[in-house]
Amino acid sequence: MPTGFQQSLDLEFRTQLQDYGLHYDPTTGLPNSTFFRAWIRRRLELAATRNEEIVLIWVDVLNLRREYSIGGDEGASRLVCTVADALRPWTSDEELACRFSDRCFLIALKRDECLEARLKLIMDAASHRSMRGSEGKPEVAAGFATFPEDATTAEELIRLASLAAAVSSRTRSRTAVRFCAEMNTALLHERSLEKDLREALRANQLTMVYQPQIDLSTGEILGVESLTRWHHPTRGWVSPAHFIPVAERSNLIDEIFSHSLRCLLTDAAQWRAAGFHLPSLAVNASPANVRHEEFVQIVERELAAHPPGDMQLDIEVTESLLMDDEELFVERLSALRAIGVKVSLDDFGTRYTGFNALKGLPLNTMKIDKCFVHGVDRSSQAQSLCRTIVMMAGHLRLSSVAEGIEEVGELRCLKRIGCQGGQGYLFQRPVPNREFMQFMREWPTRKKSTEFGGAFVDDDASLEAVEDSLLEA
Ligand code: C2E
Ligand code: MG
Ligand code: MG
Repeated sequence: MPTGFQQSLDLEFRTQLQDYGLHYDPTTGLPNSTFFRAWIRRRLELAATRNEEIVLIWVDVLNLRREYSIGGDEGASRLVCTVADALRPWTSDEELACRFSDRCFLIALKRDECLEARLKLIMDAASHRSMRGSEGKPEVAAGFATFPEDATTAEELIRLASLAAAVSSRTRSRTAVRFCAEMNTALLHERSLEKDLREALRANQLTMVYQPQIDLSTGEILGVESLTRWHHPTRGWVSPAHFIPVAERSNLIDEIFSHSLRCLLTDAAQWRAAGFHLPSLAVNASPANVRHEEFVQIVERELAAHPPGDMQLDIEVTESLLMDDEELFVERLSALRAIGVKVSLDDFGTRYTGFNALKGLPLNTMKIDKCFVHGVDRSSQAQSLCRTIVMMAGHLRLSSVAEGIEEVGELRCLKRIGCQGGQGYLFQRPVPNREFMQFMREWPTRKKSTEFGGAFVDDDASLEAVEDSLLEA
């Protein structure tokens, strides 16, 4: 039963606004955002007069969309009610939990010496509670900010808590993340990068570079991977490692995907016209691209506009989507395969993928991440890992492509292990189209040179000549 301050506010608001329904969330029975905003303003005024600290926790329910996809309204309601039930018991007099938006709850607590322990209990309660009538559990990310240390107004306090929760969700933190000033700076930096990226897309400043993929047994060109480059007038070259995550968090990633796919297919038409045959044309897709409802249609549209002839499109995806939403992943990848597109699992081994999940996935190729390839010839551990991945790919009837081959020793070792394909600076750094065409012209001769230690020399006499010249060198 609410008492004191809580009760007086309750009564005041109910009588003032005359409509209980306007201030409570019908699904969970918790106060809604209108009630909470008014309540927290008053609560902070009171805290200021009493020299109290108030901690505002923002809790995001991460799997709401998935539960909705599986169980519709009923599934989504079950999930939010489970979270609400888990949060409710942790507030006492002059504290409040509310359902702030569809997937977000706010909790205002008085700061005391038990705060750390309470935060832990709240997180445990919210994420470990089983849902009635379902096998699922809530997945939550939480962040918090403190009054008056971080913010002195209600709106600012809510904003900062939301920022901390966003960081928590991005870093997949299991504990509530405390707001810090660097988060604000990082956000401002990201905003400015996002603005420039939007402008760059409009001004057509993004360009493509191409890196060949080589058949490690014959030295033939297996295909090409396209990578996006951004040269900003004042920032200079911005690495995809910086701008792709920013694009993923805004809606720009879809534009980047369509742009790179279009460039690749247009350049492929030029390669074909020049008499080059590349069996496979690879483009990177972010999890956010694959999640897009029209992802497969976008690919289909671009393919229809720029038919690749006898070259096959290969879409590189990463494991993270598999971890987030396996069902959607399988559905989208199967749809891609149905329209004749190959699928590669990029950066394999850098994140945790249950081997069981790989079974039956609609994939064609597994790309071994460069962290395993680096120094593979000098480390028995790296060698065992590469061999295991190549063998596993073979058992799953997938081909394997090693990324980041920089040295002849690595090439030889991967060849011995039985890895089918490879790419890396040893063969060719990613380069703009003109240089890539030059590479294709020169490759049939170049591949037989001593640069590759005779790896692609097919007759004994030529191999001897390579070995002699290596000895002389
Ligand atoms: P990725 O798809 O795994 O691409 C391979 C990265 O390794 C590229 O970095 C490439 O330049 C680099 N690389 C190639 N050979 C070597 C080598 O021998 N040694 C070393 N140390 N590195 C090598 P880049 O171009 O900086 O791209 C980084 C990541 O950014 C890519 O990793 C990909 O995940 C992402 N990316 C790039 N372009 C796009 C794009 O258009 N869309 C999306 N969604 N992601 C992209
Ligand atoms: Mg890739
Ligand atoms: Mg990769």
